[in-house]
Amino acid sequence: MSTDTSQTETLVDNFGRRVDYVRLSVTDRCDFRCVYCMAEEMTFLPREKVLTLEEMHLIAQAFTELGVSKIRLTGGEPLIRRGVDQLLEGLGQLPNLKELVMTTNGSQLKAKAALLKACGMKRINISLDSLKADRFREITRTGDLNKVIEGIDEALAVGFKNLKLNAVILKHRNDDEILDLVRFVREREMDISFIEEMPLGNIDEHDREAAFMSSDAIRSIIESTYPLLSSSEKTAGPSRYWRFQDGHPGRIGFISPHSHNFCGDCNRVRVTAEGRLLLCLGNEHSVDLRAVVREHPGEIEPVKEKIRQAMKIKPERHYFNLAEEVKILRFMNTTGG
Ligand code: SAM
Ligand code: SF4
Repeated sequence: MSTDTSQTETLVDNFGRRVDYVRLSVTDRCDFRCVYCMAEEMTFLPREKVLTLEEMHLIAQAFTELGVSKIRLTGGEPLIRRGVDQLLEGLGQLPNLKELVMTTNGSQLKAKAALLKACGMKRINISLDSLKADRFREITRTGDLNKVIEGIDEALAVGFKNLKLNAVILKHRNDDEILDLVRFVREREMDISFIEEMPLGNIDEHDREAAFMSSDAIRSIIESTYPLLSSSEKTAGPSRYWRFQDGHPGRIGFISPHSHNFCGDCNRVRVTAEGRLLLCLGNEHSVDLRAVVREHPGEIEPVKEKIRQAMKIKPERHYFNLAEEVKILRFMNTTGG
């Protein structure tokens, strides 16, 4: 990825936060149905409502011309979108884009890892909540654990460094695997982030309040075996990081939207697969970029102007309360994690 020094504009919201990170949902569809993310029966967007790959590229380009230096592809499952290879190759060539990264469930990673590397992708986060095949199938409702592990090992083989696992821990479901997951990443010199479940979308498969496991509870389980040191490092994301006291190079992150609100230094926005620019994960404030790209096909300036305007409505923070009714009806696959 080359650097174009002509870009000087930056996006700043009303609270003085600079937005330089975009999460782009490549599709709302997925080959898994994780119990915390989706209902068993889902209705996905009709094809005409989903941005075309060209529209996605234009929107991504507009952001990079406005000072965004990091784009994370997510979904749904980004690697099941038809034509994703072409999108990846295009994004990999955007001047000003310093970091192209992805969050994936790993199901297609064995086949795609080499392409991701060739496109200049910097990091991949792989979601994995259990190392027991039966339980993995139960949590994802459809997933094959072996395929995901093969995908991870292929990504390591093609040279990805600092791969990261994302794990959502649910009480009485997979909380007995916290140490096994830590051992798994230590063996492979990967990082891991533990994510507190967020109340996005109405699910009836489990009671989110009863299943809630705080980051602090997870950390004390890890520390029973692997003492940790708090680290001041930050990536562009919401994780707070810790390191192993024994000098192992992996990092342990905690994404704690409940117990440690991360809004104060929020630098990111999201674009859904239908082109809705969401200004906050936990609020509905948004603008419709699809309407703009469809009204002015191939023109970048109207998209940039809409994005600039949107900065004025980025909310100061989100409020999540598991005991209350779900306020955000969109599922995480729509939002893009
Ligand atoms: N399909 C890809 C994957 O699973 O990595 C990318 C999209 S997924 C929506 C992104 C991340 O969101 C995953 O790490 C997943 O564990 C997390 N996630 C989904 N629903 C969640 C929820 N309700 N609360 C917290 N994290 C959630
Ligand atoms: Fe699919 Fe990712 Fe949601 Fe699981 S978390 S259902 S893999 S989008």
